[in-house]
Amino acid sequence: MNHANIVRRRLFVVMLAVVLPPLVMSQPIRAAEMLEAGFAVRDITPEKPIHLAGYAARKKASERVDSPLKVEAFALRSSGGEPFVFVALDNCEVSRTFIEPVYERLAQEHGLPRGSVMVVPSHTHSAPILEHTLEVMAIMPEKDHETVIEYGARLRAALVDVVVAAVNDLQPAKLEYGVGRATFAINRRIYQPEGVNFGENLDGPVDWDVPVLRVSSPDGKLRGIVFGYACHGTSIQGDDFYVVSGDYMAYTRQQLEGLYPGVTALYLTGMGADSNPYLRGTLMDAKRHGLELAGAVASVLDRPMRPVAGEMRHAYREVALPFLPLPDRAGLEADTKSSDQFIRRRAEMFLKKLDAGEPLPKEVPLPMSAVRIGDDLTFLAMAGEVVVDYGRAFKRLYRSDHPWTIGYAYEVPCYIPNIRILKEGGYEAESSLIYYGYYGPFQTSIEPKIFQAMDDLMKAVRN
Ligand SMILES: [Zn+2]
Repeated sequence: MNHANIVRRRLFVVMLAVVLPPLVMSQPIRAAEMLEAGFAVRDITPEKPIHLAGYAARKKASERVDSPLKVEAFALRSSGGEPFVFVALDNCEVSRTFIEPVYERLAQEHGLPRGSVMVVPSHTHSAPILEHTLEVMAIMPEKDHETVIEYGARLRAALVDVVVAAVNDLQPAKLEYGVGRATFAINRRIYQPEGVNFGENLDGPVDWDVPVLRVSSPDGKLRGIVFGYACHGTSIQGDDFYVVSGDYMAYTRQQLEGLYPGVTALYLTGMGADSNPYLRGTLMDAKRHGLELAGAVASVLDRPMRPVAGEMRHAYREVALPFLPLPDRAGLEADTKSSDQFIRRRAEMFLKKLDAGEPLPKEVPLPMSAVRIGDDLTFLAMAGEVVVDYGRAFKRLYRSDHPWTIGYAYEVPCYIPNIRILKEGGYEAESSLIYYGYYGPFQTSIEPKIFQAMDDLMKAVRN
């Protein structure tokens, strides 16, 4: 469509709105525009001590459980259409190898095509390690590894089960949207003479938005609350290293389910991989941040919210993100003599692949998607630990589409830095790749590739 046509069409829409508001308002909602929502929840608390994922400094299995871990599904569809399912998972993350059997079963046995089920781990650093995920970091005795495999099998079964149950729960729903604010996320990249380090950068970019979706039945009864925040799930650290917990995200959920009895509250992690909660360190910090975020969500729910209506459409694609050239055999062999055990493990994994004649990873495929409801709300999702610059840029670029940004979506291959962070260096650009079992860093071309892919997705879901 050429520009003049677009302008004419927009004018026509604007004129309609000006001349005929009562008529438009009183039009019955077409069947295709009626929304249906479904919820389901399963308990996934580990039954015995298990190694927890996220911190390389941990040395042993968990000692106790503070809060139950859950997996929750929120299914959505236009009546008569295909469902889309958001899955909120109390875990650090899932790799493609771990999660693929789940997506495959859902596609083959339950008719939910790839891309239409989006697993979003909360990124709590106090939930079980999953096999084939952050493998370089997962060092443990063989018997403990068996516990990890058992837990993984149980989790995969729960994931399939909870998605199917949410689809079976689909029923007419009224949706409303609003955005609150919570300020405990701070940028964690500090600039020192020797390079970028972890710290508290009170002037660095953050995203303090708290998007909230209220889901109720047509008679107004509140059924579900979906909320998000762009910050690491790392309020717990150090002294409380061996406590199983969903971190602040789970305490927010607990608070909301207490304030609004009978609802399902569900957290969708935002794009804030270079943000940490502040102040952090203990289980009490996690509970405190949980209260703060619950307060922000409740302040939105407690006031008039904007209705979300219209047909739901979604689009999914994968974009290949290339790394800079990998080290040669001599470079890998040199790394096997490193004083850092994680660098040694990564090099050994690569050499094993080389010896077996297997290809070495030169790029990662990155799942991305857009889910749009009418003209009222658009979820923009990316796999990986997405740095905050992407989330902020998408919100600026797609402001009129009412964007809700989601990171860690579908799977987590590694951090997803942008050009700025690649040029500055530091953990998100380079050293985190050691734990993810990749050699990098990425080429700077990944940033325009990601923006182009998101633009294509947005075009695909617009009216
Ligand atoms: Zn992380």
